[in-house]
Amino acid sequence: MIDNNCIFCKIIKGEIPSAKVYEDGEFVVFKDVEPKAEVHLLAVPKDHFPHLSDLDGERAEVLSHMLAKIPQIAAENGCVGGYRLVINQGEDAGQTVRHLHIHILGGEPLAW
Ligand code: 5GP
Ligand code: ZN
Repeated sequence: MIDNNCIFCKIIKGEIPSAKVYEDGEFVVFKDVEPKAEVHLLAVPKDHFPHLSDLDGERAEVLSHMLAKIPQIAAENGCVGGYRLVINQGEDAGQTVRHLHIHILGGEPLAW
């Protein structure tokens, strides 16, 4: 599913430019436009759905595929000493884009 008003769907379709570092049939990874760490990537499934509560079997498989690929993508993009994954869900977490995405943060020691 694609949502024509969604900024990440527009990035996936190529309507909005992004610095893509990885793409396959299931998901894309591009640089966050406002990086909160030395390395800040966003891993985004091509299927538009806002929340983990929208997961079904197929989407769970996509997420699992993404998690399996992320270590190599992180390493190839400068996360040499480790990295942090973040999935903001809803208002209290500060989720601003309602298309599920995994933040990949690293490239420096991260405060906790
Ligand atoms: P959220 O707060 O929803 O977890 O994260 C959304 C992220 O998307 C933010 O870190 C924000 O900087 C990033 N972002 C928003 N719009 C764009 C855009 O047009 N291009 C890119 N590359 N990142 C974006
Ligand atoms: Zn979307």
